[in-house]
Amino acid sequence: MTIPTDLTRDDALRILREEVATLVALPGEPGYERCVPWNVAAPVTPAAVVLATSAEDVAGTVRFAAAHGFTVTVQATGHGAVGVGADTILVLTAAMKHCEVDSLNRTARVGAGARWQDVIDVAAPHGLAPLCGSSPGVGVVGFLTGGGIGPLVRTVGLSSDYVRAFDVVTGEGRLLRATPDENADLFWGLRGGKATLGIVTAVEIDLPPIPEFYGGAVYFDGADTAAVLHAWRSWSVELPETVNTSIAVQQLPPLSGVPEPLAGRMTVAVRYTAVGDFAEAERLLAPMRAVATPVMDTVGVLPYAAIGAVHADPVDPMPTNEDQALLSELPAEAVDALLAVAGPGSGSPQVIVDLRLLGGALVREPQHRSAFCHRDAAFSLAVIGAPTPENAAMVAEHARAVTGAVAPWATGGQMPNFAPSYDPARPARAYAPDTLHWLAALADRYDPSRVLATGQVVRT
Ligand SMILES: Cc1cc2nc3c(=O)[nH]c(=O)nc-3n(C[C@H](O)[C@H](O)[C@H](O)COP(=O)(O)OP(=O)(O)OC[C@H]3O[C@@H](n4cnc5c(N)ncnc54)[C@H](O)[C@@H]3O)c2cc1C
Repeated sequence: MTIPTDLTRDDALRILREEVATLVALPGEPGYERCVPWNVAAPVTPAAVVLATSAEDVAGTVRFAAAHGFTVTVQATGHGAVGVGADTILVLTAAMKHCEVDSLNRTARVGAGARWQDVIDVAAPHGLAPLCGSSPGVGVVGFLTGGGIGPLVRTVGLSSDYVRAFDVVTGEGRLLRATPDENADLFWGLRGGKATLGIVTAVEIDLPPIPEFYGGAVYFDGADTAAVLHAWRSWSVELPETVNTSIAVQQLPPLSGVPEPLAGRMTVAVRYTAVGDFAEAERLLAPMRAVATPVMDTVGVLPYAAIGAVHADPVDPMPTNEDQALLSELPAEAVDALLAVAGPGSGSPQVIVDLRLLGGALVREPQHRSAFCHRDAAFSLAVIGAPTPENAAMVAEHARAVTGAVAPWATGGQMPNFAPSYDPARPARAYAPDTLHWLAALADRYDPSRVLATGQVVRT
């Protein structure tokens, strides 16, 4: 591409339209509105939106940005959006949602814009399980590049350990393949390093055979929060790794899709999934079911396609504020500290305060190491609020108070997928110092002009 150097910014962006064979929308033009993220609270106002339909569109955009002093960032669904400013071109991958399943070899090749639901729709009829997170509406690539912990994490381990290959456009606009044997440094870094090392255009994953599971959620009234949370604490740590559980103190708004018994009040959800012996799984759950009188109980044998029903996360776009802490232990004092700040009578404004039991297969390093850290955390605490412009500061401050309440038991770490932020201290919490060092060194190698140095990426 030969581009004159004396162009105005807008003229340059019009040339971009000629250089990539897809829709390029500038502010105010049709298509620009597609950059509004799922987390509508994130201020996403890029210089231009490129609705990529191919790896060539992505590579062409990156090369154009390098030539014209723009940075580039990527969005699939906006579930993990951080703000995007006016010097940045946003590559929207949402249209690259192809998904091919090879049921014989139990693998899938998935485009960068696919959501987990797209893969589940094709794989689950073969009895195969795409290892999504709690919400199948989340993007496959954004989830996997952050490691990815799902409702079966203790049984199957980290979802990104099931990645076989990435196709990725580097900061130099080159399309590379990353596997354990080809560009192995990228393969290491892309599993955990988010968008630090490039824009992934397709991913290939293994699909374990899990046609069905025993699971769902048992919901209790908010008045029973203390009893349920304390009982869950001592019950959960005895569970075998075929069983997974999390517990959430919820204050769901009375919106369509929220079941009547859960809407507009505090409830406690004990989520449960198990594979293998379903009768044994039912027996293990019995003591938890008996702690108080459930207001709703959805646990039973379900097809894998129903995995999203376990957490029943919100589907429609909403404003979100997140915080996360990883815990090395959960003594009774930690539960009391949580109850004081997020339980009944605390005045908590949070929609979901979620504790997940980790451990099991997550702890074991995979055959091919990755940039994901903190495998040894015992629990993840996630705090999710739905701020309005008026209460945004208060919701964020309260979320910090919730994670602060368990600080004595926290590891100090966070997972790359949770609580996305521009905060430069954020990567230091997501990665061990040597991992940070190598991610930054690889970013210098694959993006020497810092074209991708935008959003939540590791750079020094
Ligand atoms: C309701 C909800 C439930 C969730 N549940 C879980 C869960 O159970 N487990 C878990 O681990 N996480 C979970 N998450 C976090 C989620 O995995 C991250 O927010 C993830 O980044 C979302 O990816 P996305 O593509 O949907 O979002 P986007 O906002 O589109 O992307 C987020 C980030 O992912 C990276 N990314 C996206 N596409 C590419 C690409 N093509 N190449 C390189 N980098 C890319 C970029 O850094 C981008 O900024 C949840 C989030 C929400 C909102």
